[in-house]
Amino acid sequence: MTSISKPILLSPPHFSDEELKYVKQAFGQEWIAGRGENLDELEGALSNFLGIDHVVALNSGTAAIHLALVLLGIKRGDVVLCSTFTFAASANPIVYQGAEPVFIDSESETWNMDPELLVKAIDELIKIGKKPKAIIFVHVYGMPGKIEEVANICNHFQIPLIEDAAEALGATRKGKKVGTFGDLGVYSFNDNKIITTSGGGALVSNNGDWIERARFLASQSRDRTNYYQHSAIGYNYVMSNIAASIGRGQMEVLQDRIEKRREIFAYYKERLGQIEGVKFLEELPGVYCNRWLTTLLIDREITSVSAETLRFELEQVSIESRLLWNPMHRQPIYQEKQYFDNGISDHLFSSGLCLPSGSNMGAADLERVTDAVLKVLDQVTRS
Ligand SMILES: *Cc1c(COP(=O)(O)O)cnc(C)c1O
Repeated sequence: MTSISKPILLSPPHFSDEELKYVKQAFGQEWIAGRGENLDELEGALSNFLGIDHVVALNSGTAAIHLALVLLGIKRGDVVLCSTFTFAASANPIVYQGAEPVFIDSESETWNMDPELLVKAIDELIKIGKKPKAIIFVHVYGMPGKIEEVANICNHFQIPLIEDAAEALGATRKGKKVGTFGDLGVYSFNDNKIITTSGGGALVSNNGDWIERARFLASQSRDRTNYYQHSAIGYNYVMSNIAASIGRGQMEVLQDRIEKRREIFAYYKERLGQIEGVKFLEELPGVYCNRWLTTLLIDREITSVSAETLRFELEQVSIESRLLWNPMHRQPIYQEKQYFDNGISDHLFSSGLCLPSGSNMGAADLERVTDAVLKVLDQVTRS
């Protein structure tokens, strides 16, 4: 008996009953666009949750990274260091500013930027008179990287630190939320992130002047005059009040969503973690990962199955999975750029896979995915 199975997606949106309530409220108040109560409430909820004073909600995470660079005065010819193992949106805003991205490889314990390689890059660049003007450090898949070490390095060299925590909302290191260690932190509420506003992001900082400036730049840099006057180039980056209404509802269930994703990880690890040649990404002591996506590494020598074969076979049974990030130094748009290499991100890309991790997955979905993985890896399911 064959039937077309319902697709299981990688990380679809998961709403509660609250979002529509706030959206309706926004309609009632005729605050569809522009600043409204829900935007204030969302920023307040984020500030509370993150334990940081200043938050501006924007229309994407990419916009937040771009504004961070604008605030830091990054301009044509400046060098900005960036994690290579990430999504392209981490690096593209460097190029929007006409600056030069230089990519840094990962360490193997968290898959994020390697502090040792970072020091080496800074030293070498300073030697040739190209001291980096900023660092964009990414926490991939919700796993906190070695951010304290990196913050110390940035302090030592007096280089501003931007944390791209787009995938890591709610993840912590020693109880402190990632995204709040650097000078500026970035979050995304895109539709496949841990919570969504349909599309959106936020920029956070302990520096209130910066966030106030970001608010000004994000709303076309309109001066406080009775007519239209602009003393700076502006951007249209403000989050709409409708998107914020969705976000306000999502904030109420954020911790539940994180806990559910952590349960999904635990389930996968329980059922697949014993297979020889399959490895999961573990938390270091003192680290709390939001498990945005459960990822695994497959040793092809041992399993005779590549990550791409597994992805393809899962697709045949309507299960969406995804290879790990294709590092920036391998991208056609960036392959000419300078890159500090230790081989780790290349290895991750060639051997890793993200499994479906949406917080709305049920027990049957999880069983279906693990059974399918076991079947491809030719393992007998014992019951
Ligand atoms: C999603 C994502 C972004 C971009 O966020 P958008 O809201 O989609 O613009 C940036 N960096 C990383 C690491 C991401 O995963």
